[in-house]
Amino acid sequence: MMILRPFDPWRSSLCTCPAKLSLNPYTGCAHGCLYCYASSYIRGFSDCRPKGGITRLSSQLARLRGDELISISNSSDPYPPVERELGITRSCISLIKRRGLRLQIVTKSDIVLRDVDLLSDMRAAVSMTITSLRLDSRLEPGAPSSIQRLRAIRGLADSGVPVAARIDPIIPGINDCEIDELVESVADAGSSYVISSTYKARHDSWRRMSLEFPEVMQSLRPMYFEHGERIGGYRYLPSEIRHAIISRVREACHEHGIGFGSCREGFGSDASCDGSHLTDAQTHRILR
Ligand code: SF4
Repeated sequence: MMILRPFDPWRSSLCTCPAKLSLNPYTGCAHGCLYCYASSYIRGFSDCRPKGGITRLSSQLARLRGDELISISNSSDPYPPVERELGITRSCISLIKRRGLRLQIVTKSDIVLRDVDLLSDMRAAVSMTITSLRLDSRLEPGAPSSIQRLRAIRGLADSGVPVAARIDPIIPGINDCEIDELVESVADAGSSYVISSTYKARHDSWRRMSLEFPEVMQSLRPMYFEHGERIGGYRYLPSEIRHAIISRVREACHEHGIGFGSCREGFGSDASCDGSHLTDAQTHRILR
């Protein structure tokens, strides 16, 4: 079994990610985000368990050229609560560090702070997802609070680890009213970049969102299912609505003096669409 796989978000025509290898130390996720995309293609998703075959990572890393970018994780969170005991993600980071590869971590958990000793001394950057300062416990019931995540951004940034904040997804009527506040909060906490994206509907996430926010989702239905587009297996809002939302994020970022990227929106980015350029920022810091 290949533990490292080329990152491929459903072959989306809007994906502008650089070539990278995806690594999931866990299968499934304990964070229970209502809008989660990964739950639609992984069986038993709420049952978070170590990824089968993870012990083969070392031999697969040995076969790489050495200039690859590794992304942890794209179909799970690398820091579920059980990671505190198991330390699987930490072991993976140690192996990647030893191999001298660039590393991008995507998480919603402040457990990442535990690994700051490794991350601050390698070519790494962290993307911390924050979608709401008020509805986090409803949108992401199993994840650490947004306050904990902001503290984690502060801790990482203070230790010299570049941090991008993912304000993703933005769902009209749910969290779009918080755009300015979110950007200000993550910039104040030490993020140097924001990546944003609007909610893309899949059947199971739509059902979960509709159970929790029935009136808002009912009002959004025509925009997604009558006037919107189908791209890469997802239902999108009409492009003019998406781009109006994403423009607001970009403006807020520039007001706060930080960079902006958009993910699978066909909108463009100041630098990378996924924050991967920050792993090079870390290189410059180490070499100085
Ligand atoms: S943290 Fe990511 S993988 Fe886990 S439930 Fe939330 S969106 Fe899905």
